[in-house]
This record gives sequence, structure tokens and C-alpha cells, in this order.
Amino acid sequence: MDLAHKVALVTGASRGIGRAVALELARAGAAVAVNYTASEGPAREVVQEIERMGGKAIPVRFDVADPEAVARGVKEVEEALGAIDILVNNAGITRDGLLVRLKDEDWERVLSVNLRGAFLVTRAVLPGMMKRRYGRIINISSVVAFSGNPGQTNYAASKAGLVGFSRSLALEVARRGITVNVVAPGFIETDMTAALPEKAREALLSRVPMGRAGTPQEVAHAVVFLASDRASYITGTVLHVNGGLW
Ligand code: NAP
Repeated sequence: MDLAHKVALVTGASRGIGRAVALELARAGAAVAVNYTASEGPAREVVQEIERMGGKAIPVRFDVADPEAVARGVKEVEEALGAIDILVNNAGITRDGLLVRLKDEDWERVLSVNLRGAFLVTRAVLPGMMKRRYGRIINISSVVAFSGNPGQTNYAASKAGLVGFSRSLALEVARRGITVNVVAPGFIETDMTAALPEKAREALLSRVPMGRAGTPQEVAHAVVFLASDRASYITGTVLHVNGGLW
């Protein structure tokens, strides 16, 4: 998985899956831009950890749902590290609730960060990839895009949206040497799932055929594979990382 001389931008890389993806991409040799919004300390720690292993990284703060901030952030990354070869749209949030009571702002914020955010960052990065006729875009969806989950209509819609987005973009840019794929994690141990009530965690875990939650690193390995030249003929696909859950 030689990613030497490649530049990667990972959104939401201060914690959880994004953090593991940033570390694994760096381990494979890529220079990594570690995006975050609130968690400045943890983002800086990810950068330091990459530097300790002899890699190159910068923290870059922007809200993926804010078009101006995205444009500024992408420019900052390209000035510091060079043109972006690998984009991982990982930033994501939940605002759970049954549909009958779901607030407008909870629908809108989840769709804005999870789906519109991927659109905005991809659109900012894509011209450079098209010019250089090379790119790897990996969008982090979720098993619930496929299975559904009560209380997560907004989240599942955003994550299913990412699948249609990725399929369509893959067709648009296939002839430009750019691949677009989706990784759909199942139940992964992160702050996001730690926030679930104990009962919901147990119910979810009991449905996983492998009998355990996945680790952020197990998702990161799938992302690094899709970012590597070993996946050069794979585009428009979904790689499920879920212990058999789907
Ligand atoms: P997490 O631990 O809650 O971390 C979320 C990350 O996203 C943080 O780094 C956070 O940064 C960043 N973020 C949130 N809003 C952002 C915004 N507007 N702009 C930029 N960054 C933002 O989540 P996770 O569990 O690692 O999930 C990562 C991705 O995997 C998400 O897309 C999630 O939907 C997906 N996923 C997770 C699971 C799971 O079981 N954990 C399963 C399927 C899919 P700050 O702290 O700086 O805000």
C-alpha cells in the first residue's frame, strides 16, 4: 500500500474512524491533512502522532457544511502539502429521534454535514484531480443506509444519499483516472456509538454475526486499500465493513 508522495485530506479526522484513517494513510506514506471543527487538541495530537512516525501532516479546521470555510480549508491544504490525491469524506454526525417528533434543525444539520458536506468538499477538490487525471475519493456511509434504523431517518437518508452520490460521480470521472467508492461501516467503537444508551448498544451488538463491535482501524484498512493502487480498477462500489451485519 505505497502512498509515498500522495497527499490526503480526511474530514473529521480528530477522533474515531477519521483519526484511524489519517494514521493508517500516513503509515502507508501519505502526507495527511487532519480536518476537524471543534476538537483542536485531539486533531493536533493526530498530527503529532504522524510526525512521530516520520510522516507529514497538518491540522486544518473547517466545517464541511460551510462552503466558504471549505474553499479556504482546501486552499490551505494545497498550499501546505500540495495537490490533493486522496479525499476521505468521513465527517459525520447523528441527531437521532423518531420521525414524528424530528425537529427541522435536526434533519437539516445531519443532511448538511453528512451529505452536503461531502458534496462541498468533493467539488472543491475535484478540479485539481481532474487536471492531474488522478484521484481517489472514499465516502464513509453506514450500514443503516442499507438496513434502515428506527430513530435515524435523517442519518440513514444522508448515508444512503452518499451511495447514490458516489455511484453517479464515479461514472462522471471514471475516464479521468479518478475512482469514487464507499465504505459502509457497521457498529464501530467510537464516541458516536459510546453515546448510545446501553440497551441500544447491547441490542445492536447481539445482531452482529461476528459477536463484537469493529475497531476504527478495521475500517481504516478498507479505506487505505481503496486509496491504494491495488484498488485501481475498483470504482462506484460499496465495501461493507460490519462483521457480517449486512
Ligand atoms: P465521531 O467519533 O463522532 O467523530 C466524528 C468526527 O467528525 C470528529 O472528528 C468531528 O470533529 C468530525 N466532525 C463532525 N462534524 C463536523 C463538521 N461539520 N465538519 C468537520 N468535521 C466534523 O464519529 P465516528 O464514529 O468516528 O464516525 C465517523 C464517520 O463514520 C461518520 O461519517 C459516521 O457517520 C460514520 N459511521 C460510524 C459508525 C460507527 O459505528 N461509529 C458506523 C457507520 C458509519 P470535531 O470533534 O472537531 O467536531
